[in-house]
Amino acid sequence: MAHIMAYAVQELFPGTKFGIGPAIENGFYYDFGLIKNLSLDDLPKIEERMRKIINQDVLFKKSQITKEKAKELFKDQLYKLELIDEMKDKIISVYESGDFTDLCRGPHVKSSKEINPAAFKLTKIAGAYWRGSEKNPMLTRIYGVAFNDKKELDDYFRKAGEAEKRDHRKLGSQLDLFHIDETIGAGLILWLPKGAILKRIIEEYALSEYLKSGYQLVSTPHIAKLNLWKTSGHTDFYKENMFPAMHFQEISREEKEDYQIKPMNCPFHVAIYKSDIRSYRDLPLRYTELGTVYRYEKSGVLHGLARVRGFTQDDAHIFCSPEQLGPELVSVFKFTIKILKTFGFKDYDTYLSTRPEKYAGAIKDWEEATNSLKYALEKIKVKYKIDPGEGVFYGPKIDIKIKDSIGRPWQCTTIQVDFNLPEKFNISYVDTKGAKQRPIMIHRALLGSLERFICVLIENYAGNFPLWLSPVQTWVIPVGATHRKYAREVGMILNKENIRTEIKDEKETVSKKIRRGEIKKIPYLLVVGDKEIKEKSIRVRSRNKDLGMMRLTKFLEKIKTEVEKKI
Ligand SMILES: [Zn+2]
Ligand SMILES: [Zn+2]
Repeated sequence: MAHIMAYAVQELFPGTKFGIGPAIENGFYYDFGLIKNLSLDDLPKIEERMRKIINQDVLFKKSQITKEKAKELFKDQLYKLELIDEMKDKIISVYESGDFTDLCRGPHVKSSKEINPAAFKLTKIAGAYWRGSEKNPMLTRIYGVAFNDKKELDDYFRKAGEAEKRDHRKLGSQLDLFHIDETIGAGLILWLPKGAILKRIIEEYALSEYLKSGYQLVSTPHIAKLNLWKTSGHTDFYKENMFPAMHFQEISREEKEDYQIKPMNCPFHVAIYKSDIRSYRDLPLRYTELGTVYRYEKSGVLHGLARVRGFTQDDAHIFCSPEQLGPELVSVFKFTIKILKTFGFKDYDTYLSTRPEKYAGAIKDWEEATNSLKYALEKIKVKYKIDPGEGVFYGPKIDIKIKDSIGRPWQCTTIQVDFNLPEKFNISYVDTKGAKQRPIMIHRALLGSLERFICVLIENYAGNFPLWLSPVQTWVIPVGATHRKYAREVGMILNKENIRTEIKDEKETVSKKIRRGEIKKIPYLLVVGDKEIKEKSIRVRSRNKDLGMMRLTKFLEKIKTEVEKKI
């Protein structure tokens, strides 16, 4: 398709200089040094010419030529000449299709006839520096998508449109949830009042479930001595994900050691374990913390709440004996599924990530850890796929990717088995015979990063959160000035019952307020006028549906039940 687009551009705009034109996910692009500026309006014209070429049954002919011959062939194409010059091979392969010839390794279709002319579309134009360097000229990049048939193409656009409507960055600002400020730093999230409430609701729910399930709450600092991270292996195996160390000695002679902001909570929980003598009777010990960690991500991959540099994990570390490992993993997995269901996620894919290239510890331990995870998955009869080499440096893991309402997978939960850190920090427990034994550590985060989890929630629900998660659950809207007092009374009653309510008594028409309430995706809009005052009632609108007049007491009962049931 890239060749055909370039062919069409060559015919339509003679004199164009050609850059590169690779295939990308769902399609292709090509960089052109054009003699005139193009706009989106020009794309249909190029598409039309491409269709004409496709229908001409143009053959794709590959040939191998010498570097000299290639230079001769592309003598008017400065970018191609640059590429040829840098090629190490003496023989260069080119593809000839009709009157257009390009440097290319292929492989390609034999004929343009194999391409469905109704199953592609040019999608956008962007500026792109030649070879990505701003010292070079700016070329025009034209993107396109291509599929097997028209149905796949239509599906793609339907899904893309659906995804765009759900974009958490757009909804995040529409619903006043979060803000990213360049003066604070890229990838660092500022939670606005409504977003902070949402985060708090999730944290409170998760934590209360953990505490009910035998976890103990701990709390640890954000920084620790650099030496700790040397012992844990982070400085060796995790360096590129960490913020640089704080060189304390440079500013204070009193401080002899450097510090490091935490990329993980694990060593802190190990230190808590180590703070006392542990016996087999204490195990399993389950420590949980809503721990905020900082990891360095390249600025290019940062994306709203989905990829950030600082985030809070619903983290936990379970210290157990070898006999307890299997049952403990089974119960963590089952517990995870239950929690995810409450948030509305019923579909998920499970992955077992194995030993990565850079790893700590002995292969024997890795095998044992991997087998225990396999054992747990088989015991629960979960179908899973192996993700080779995707484990963490200290151990293999189970990853759960939840599927959102439009079928996209999101990685959230991770359950890891670790023989490594217990050894590195030399932790132990006293067994039934009074001998010292090494416990095994399970690292687990069910929701994962709360930032990322909230991104998934926003996109899954397109901002229409279930009532229990909605930062604002009701708006009370008085019809006129004489109804303000009653509106405030209603608001006070609701707030007293822990229903998050706002009173909208600004000078604005009711229909405008309703429209605004819908944009802000408020679950219940409660309108009050003369009739409602007389009957101690409210008129209830629930997301575009008029539920009619309802006695306030009845509505209270209804909304409280719904919050309780988490619907
Ligand atoms: Zn090619
Ligand atoms: Zn951990």
